[in-house]
Amino acid sequence: MMRCAQSWKRPGRAMGDIDLHVHTTASDGTCTPAEAVRKAAALGLRALAITDHDTVSGHQEAIAAGKALGMEVVPGIEVSTRYGTAVHILGYYVEALVPVLQELVHDRDTRNEKIAALMAADGLPVRYEEMQARFGTAIGRPHFGRVLMELGLAESVSDAFRRYLGRDQRYFVPRRILDIDSSVEGIVQSGGIPVLAHPFQYKKNDTELRELIEHCMAHGLRGMECRYSGYDAGQTAYLEALAEEYGLVKTGGSDFHGDNKPQISLGTGIAGELDVPYAWLERLRDKHERMK
Ligand code: AMP
Ligand code: FE
Ligand code: FE
Ligand code: ZN
Repeated sequence: MMRCAQSWKRPGRAMGDIDLHVHTTASDGTCTPAEAVRKAAALGLRALAITDHDTVSGHQEAIAAGKALGMEVVPGIEVSTRYGTAVHILGYYVEALVPVLQELVHDRDTRNEKIAALMAADGLPVRYEEMQARFGTAIGRPHFGRVLMELGLAESVSDAFRRYLGRDQRYFVPRRILDIDSSVEGIVQSGGIPVLAHPFQYKKNDTELRELIEHCMAHGLRGMECRYSGYDAGQTAYLEALAEEYGLVKTGGSDFHGDNKPQISLGTGIAGELDVPYAWLERLRDKHERMK
């Protein structure tokens, strides 16, 4: 049974911080959108952004829950793109997705059916229609990981990635990855603000990261995620200086996925290192207002 991680304690933290990178059951998180909002409120956060992979289907529920609790909810998305390696682009305040982004969920279906067929061929009781009924529309490898765990074949979702779902493992099937230009432009066309997610994940040196930023800016990039789970003060300071130099709005968030990434806590990251100021959201919101 999927459940929403229940760590509500939050000792010694001041009010006023936010989390702009959160996954829910609309993609591969384990808290429903409403649960994520309630959890954020219980932790004393002032705002959160719902940034599910490839889908906006969690927005309505999260915004409604936010209204009920007086919690600011930013409707967002996260898109995996290709630029040599995989690079993730966040989109904030996206409205109706343009077709190039809508197709991502459809592409997932095609790929997921192949994964389910591979498992079924091994005699595992896995039916994709049942997974759709249970998990919704933006199904990905983490959901298969959960199923493998429930079948007793893996100890955790990460373990399932290691044994079965990771690149070169038995149940790995690639999915279509959008190029970075169309992703950034698609977010702009969907009314959103494109932001470069977790820049240290790409293992680029300063020159390469600058090249990535400049490339994305030529297609409409407006921001960069400067604070992120596991990033230390030095890394954060470097990213903030880079964002300021390029005139990019700064964002930050945990990449919370509930029990699918149990080491990451909403709002505070891995070891309490995360602290994203509300003022950053004000600038993001201003930028969005000016784009209208
Ligand atoms: P997919 O988009 O379906 O290929 O799945 C990729 C997603 O799986 C990423 O967005 C991560 O959230 C998650 N993921 C990747 N590697 C792992 C891992 N080792 N353990 C848990 N989740 C992972
Ligand atoms: Fe994910
Ligand atoms: Fe990401
Ligand atoms: Zn994410």
